[in-house]
Amino acid sequence: MTEPGNETREIRWHKLRRDEIAEVARHDPVLLLPIGAIEQHGPHLPIDTDTSTVIAVTERAAGLLPPLTALVLPPIAWGLSPYWMPFAGTITLRPETILALISDIGRSVAAHGFRRLMIVNGHGGNAGIIGVAVTQLADFGIRATALSYWSLLGTELGTLSPGDHGLIGHAGQTETSIQLHLQPELVHPSYRELTGWTDLESKASSPLAGALYAPPLPLHEGPTGVYGNAPLAEAAIGERIVAMAAERLAEVVSAMPRTPPVRS
Ligand SMILES: [Zn+2]
Repeated sequence: MTEPGNETREIRWHKLRRDEIAEVARHDPVLLLPIGAIEQHGPHLPIDTDTSTVIAVTERAAGLLPPLTALVLPPIAWGLSPYWMPFAGTITLRPETILALISDIGRSVAAHGFRRLMIVNGHGGNAGIIGVAVTQLADFGIRATALSYWSLLGTELGTLSPGDHGLIGHAGQTETSIQLHLQPELVHPSYRELTGWTDLESKASSPLAGALYAPPLPLHEGPTGVYGNAPLAEAAIGERIVAMAAERLAEVVSAMPRTPPVRS
């Protein structure tokens, strides 16, 4: 790691040299582990939408923090997406594969002296399993936590991206806006005239909203594979969402308790 104030400060684990990683470990940093998905995102967004988003949020958050506070681990590109398999391009891992992968990463970083880790999630289907994964990481002496980036936005998501009614949706206004900000060259302009997308209003206003996770059933409820009002997307909305999520993630990382000394 270079000195504080250096604009080129590297926060990605996999771009550092071994001695630099050993030095960071001595400062009890938080390791951020992004996990996304490789899955269909409607006819207009790239397959890596969730992964690109969570990488951006996580790296920007780490860049906002003081040096030696956080490092971003190599991202896990794939997630749990069985329900999108009817669409081309989706690659899903089995739950046991994800748990084994995170467990092996945790075992490895613990061996190098790291004790704090946060899984940052970019895909709804991963939300349950990352809770299990962080619980298992305690076996290696790692204090871990997990969150999905949109949970950092709370009710403001509904104000920023009203076409999705406060939900993250799928390839709707929120995600299309984020991709217009992050990788506009990969967004097909047909999103502006897209029809047949699934309106999230009834889901958002249901008494069960926020209390229950139910995986999508696209062939019955959303044959286009788009949940939310994609035609309302704007790059400026995506820019605000990514910036706000990164700032709040940095705050959450700062608030993580430091590793207590081992009692003798
Ligand atoms: Zn997505």
